[in-house]
Order: sequence, then C-alpha cells, then structure tokens
Amino acid sequence: MSDKKRPDWVPEGAGAEFTTTVMKGVEGGHDGFRGNRSSSGPRSGPKRRRFSRDEYVAGVRAGDRNILAQTITLVESNSTAHMALAQEVIKELLPDTGGSIRIGITGVPGVGKSTFIEALGLSLIAKGHRVAVLAVDPSSTVTRGSILGDKTRMELLSRDKRAFIRPSPSSGTLGGVTRKSRETILVCEAAGFDVILVETVGVGQSETTVRSMVDFFLLLMLTGAGDELQGIKKGIMELADSLLINKADGDNKVRAQAAKAEYNRALHYLAPATEGWHTQAYTASAMTGDGIDNILEVIDKFRETTGKSGVFEQRRRSQTLDWVYSMVEEHLLASFFNHAGVKEIRSEVEFQVVEGHLPPTVAVQRLIQQFENAPPLEN
Ligand code: GDP
Repeated sequence: MSDKKRPDWVPEGAGAEFTTTVMKGVEGGHDGFRGNRSSSGPRSGPKRRRFSRDEYVAGVRAGDRNILAQTITLVESNSTAHMALAQEVIKELLPDTGGSIRIGITGVPGVGKSTFIEALGLSLIAKGHRVAVLAVDPSSTVTRGSILGDKTRMELLSRDKRAFIRPSPSSGTLGGVTRKSRETILVCEAAGFDVILVETVGVGQSETTVRSMVDFFLLLMLTGAGDELQGIKKGIMELADSLLINKADGDNKVRAQAAKAEYNRALHYLAPATEGWHTQAYTASAMTGDGIDNILEVIDKFRETTGKSGVFEQRRRSQTLDWVYSMVEEHLLASFFNHAGVKEIRSEVEFQVVEGHLPPTVAVQRLIQQFENAPPLEN
C-alpha cells in the first residue's frame, strides 16, 4: 500500500495486511441471500454455498472471514428458515462469546466518527487487539444506510485482517436492527474479536439502543456555538461514559480545551451513566492522533474499575434480560396488531374514541378482550 496515505501517527504495519474490503450492507426486505442463487450470466457472482450449522460454527470459531461474513448475513436475514438456523448457530457459539469490550461511539454526522474509529482501531490493532466495527443506524431503513455505507471510509482499517468492518443492517424495525446488531456482536466475539466498536449516528433513539448493547459509551462532540449544553444533548450526555471533543487541532485546539472545561463543569450536575464511574470530557484529534491513546487508557481504566466493582458484569446481565423482554414485547405487539379479531374491530373502536363516544380505557378493554377472544364488554 502507498505510504503517502498513512498519516504520521499511524503505527508501523497498520493497514498493511491487505485482506479484505468493507462488506456490503444488507438491504430491506430480503432473505439475506438473494442475488446469490443464480450462477448463470456474467453479472451474477460465484454461487454461494449454503453451510450447515456445524460448518458455520466451526468457520466462525476458526476466524474464517468469509464464513464470519456469511454467518452475519444469516443473522441479518428476515427469512424464517434462516432465522431458525441462525439461532442454532448462535446457541452453539454462546460459550465463545462475551470476551470483548463493547464500545459504543456516537455523534452527529460530520463530527468525525469514521475518522476517529479508524484512528482508534489502528491504535488498538497495533497494541495486539482484534477489532470489529459494526454500525447501528435505524434511520437507514429510510435513507438506505447513512453510515458505513461508503467503502472509502476507514480505508486503512478495512484493509487489515485484524479488523472486520460491517455496515449497518438496513432492514426492518428498530427492534429488528437491534436483534441483528446484538447477534452480530456475539458472532464477532466468537470469531475472536476482542474489541467491538459500535458506531451510531446521533439521531435520538439510536443512542439509547446502542447504549443498551455496549459496556462503554463514547460521545463525540465539536466545539461550537453556545447552545452546546442545551436541549437534546443533555439527554445524550447522561448516557455517555466519556465525552470527547473532537477535531482539537490547529486553530480549534484552544477552543476545544475551553469546551472541555465547560463540559466538565456541566457533567458535575448530571447523574453518571455508570455507577461508580465519573464521566469526564477529553479532547482528541483523529487527524493528528492526539488524545487517541489517552481515550484508550480511559476505557482500560473503566473496564478495571467496573470489573472490580462488579458493575461491568451486572450491566451485561441486565442488558441481556432487558433484551429478552424487549423481544417479548415486540412479539406480543406484533401478535396483537396481527390478530384477526383485533383487526376486525380496530377502525370502529378508533372512530368511537376520537369522536368522543368511547373512553380510551374502555377502548383498551374492548381491544384486549377481542385479542384474548373473550366476549366483548357490555356498554
Ligand atoms: P462522521 O460523519 O462523523 O463519520 O465524520 P467523518 O469522519 O466522515 O469526518 C467528517 C469531516 O471531518 C471529514 O472531512 C474529516 O476529514 C474531518 N475530520 C475528521 N476528524 C478530524 C479531526 O480530528 N480534525 C479535523 N480538523 N478534521 C477532522
């Protein structure tokens, strides 16, 4: 590879082991394998072989990148048969999971997430880690993948076999995207990746979703107007284990230091995101590499502190249980709205409610009784 592209701070050898390109994202409503069935015609790729459960499991465990990618495709598939097979594979892999630190990274578009993740990832692999980069982007249902969709992002990292980059699954509901991302984390762990970076865009609900699946949550910010401490950011700041004022280079360096001090004052008044951990602001520049190793030390310290106190393990356990119950909720909601009896009376009940003829509580009783197949309430 050309050394011209390598910034000064990039560790020797990073990105040099050319093995892979960024995997293409999966698009809406598919079965995960479409387009690979046909082997005829010049446009179709090589026919993809279906693997058995044991082949998927052995391939992932051996760190076979092709099988790893195909296992994730299986996990992302919406077809019932693929989902069943994916669950069998995950069940087998479960004993090999959990051995990573899961780091969520968020920030508004343009804050420098991908540049930062590349810098962080390269530094991690230079220290002997194996890094998987995943994305959670619920908005991509509409925008068809606003993050990690561009192959030129994280160019050095994507060429290194110690890293694995997977764009966001772009199909389905937020719940669907969450399941796919969580299961992808497990599969990457079973494949031996010991640092999982989960990127998300700073658009409301996606931060909460990512917070619910990671150990450490990092919020990237920019220096800017005085509205910094207002509005939605406070809510997001309360989810973060560290704030990083990015692009602290050149003319911006002094302003970044001032913003750091200001955020640190504000953080004093917020509840910490993690029990026993003091969320603080730092500065960094992905461009010069300043502050990158410092944030890695902060993350190490976090792991050590929360590991000792038991908060790390406790969070993982409650995240898993929360996930179980959120899937139960989704399942129940889907059964409710797909229930023939509910469908039959729904529009009439809605009409009665909005016209003021039926109190909402009674409307709920009617719908639920219909769902449970009980006789309807008397008026
Ligand atoms: P994302 O949308 O959050 O993923 O942001 P990108 O990583 O694509 O970066 C957005 C723009 O900011 C690009 O033009 C980058 O070159 C620039 N950028 C990223 N990191 C830095 C940095 O540390 N310093 C400076 N000066 N610019 C940066």
